[in-house]
Amino acid sequence: MQNDTIAAIATPPGIGGIGIIRVSGADAFDVVLPLLRRPGGSTEVPPSHVLTYGHIVNPQTREILDEVLVAFMRAPRTYTREDVVEISGHGGPLVLQRMLRLLLAQGARLANPGEFTLRAFLNGRLDLAQAEAVMDLISSQTEAGQRLAIQQLRGRISEQVQDARHALLGVIARIEASIDFPEEDVPTPQSEELRPLIEIAQQKVDALLAGAEQGRLYRQGLRTAIIGRPNVGKSSLLNALLRTERAIVTPIAGTTRDTVEEVANLRGIPLHLIDTAGITPSDDPVEQIGVRRSRAAAESAEVVLLVFDGSERLNEQDLQVSAELRAMGFGTKNRTMIVVANKSDLPRQLQIEEVHNIWPEAPLISTSTLSGAGLDQLEEALANLVLGGKVLAGESSLITSARHQEALRKAAEYLQASLLPLEQRLPLDFVSIDLRAAYDALGEVTGETASEDLLERIFSEFCIGK
Ligand code: GDP
Repeated sequence: MQNDTIAAIATPPGIGGIGIIRVSGADAFDVVLPLLRRPGGSTEVPPSHVLTYGHIVNPQTREILDEVLVAFMRAPRTYTREDVVEISGHGGPLVLQRMLRLLLAQGARLANPGEFTLRAFLNGRLDLAQAEAVMDLISSQTEAGQRLAIQQLRGRISEQVQDARHALLGVIARIEASIDFPEEDVPTPQSEELRPLIEIAQQKVDALLAGAEQGRLYRQGLRTAIIGRPNVGKSSLLNALLRTERAIVTPIAGTTRDTVEEVANLRGIPLHLIDTAGITPSDDPVEQIGVRRSRAAAESAEVVLLVFDGSERLNEQDLQVSAELRAMGFGTKNRTMIVVANKSDLPRQLQIEEVHNIWPEAPLISTSTLSGAGLDQLEEALANLVLGGKVLAGESSLITSARHQEALRKAAEYLQASLLPLEQRLPLDFVSIDLRAAYDALGEVTGETASEDLLERIFSEFCIGK
């Protein structure tokens, strides 16, 4: 399959200043050249990595389809490591479609989603973690997310994983040499020698895992629900949080959205605010209390902002909402919650003691969406809760992918398991089986040991032309 030449429109659908068609494969030049008419009439392959001016012409009808700049790029210094041609034309969907059709008629095949990047991976230009970073970079929602994707694309994650793998391979090699050549002079390594070596690999894996939760937050964001009885200021708070700095939202292929979400930018974390605020109260008494709505939103949330009206005493509805949230486990270590006493610009009637008795563990922040008071503190409290005070430095690299985290966790388990037979002085085969498994688990991150299925799943989430 990799021998054929693929083509796709690489720019987004719709009208744009320019539109780019990308062609990659052994025949890329031969596919494009017959369609390109240049001033002076040359039919030679132009110099590599230089823009060539001309027109795309239908060779049968001689119709001119577009005026273009074309880059012929000779392998291997290309995105896919194959011969690549990029045709920049005018960015109209019909023009691009017609040019693409000509290319297909010349023998190119329409590229699958992510196929250019898949080829870059298969040809060894990117490892799997780097290929995934391409997708992350395109879909990043905040600057912090983008910075992490760039570090991953530069191979920072891969380097650290390879470093751990390398450490492990040294241990495996020593064990296996002694097993394979017992009669030769390879001394059987002792438990006392092996343990510290395994522990070094463990430390490397643990270091990667340590930042993974934080990394995932930057990439995936945090599902946050604003809950409370009607009229306490939920919509106002939602809008206030969005006003501070909005994240850039791009639809990600493969995700379905069943609720309306707005995305705010909380210190680099995309805060997915689950929007229940625009719902008008109905005549249904249960609905009026808002409990049912709140329940659905809260169920799917990782963090809840529970809003009370600071200018009123707690009432029956407030208590009911609180009881619902408590039943779901909010306000405990597992499910984060912050209590917001809103309308702090009005005289306070809310009894702080009373709130504290209901929610002893949750931080309480006073806000006024009217004056903006307390909003900074609310963001600060939220960031502290979810990041535990850790701040992302400019050049740091973190594991951001759930898939990587899972592979590392598996590796950590196998490493831990390998220590047991060592302790019990069982034959070293038992140790090396676990070490091998850990080694393979690490290889899933960079793709050395990734299955066909996994590759397919990862690349199918890309867009066409990438
Ligand atoms: P929701 O039903 O909980 O979404 O509440 P809204 O956001 O619709 O607000 C209900 C009412 O309270 C509106 O009239 C808002 O203008 C008002 N309100 C919201 N926040 C504040 C605040 O901080 N101070 C004051 N004084 N009024 C507020």
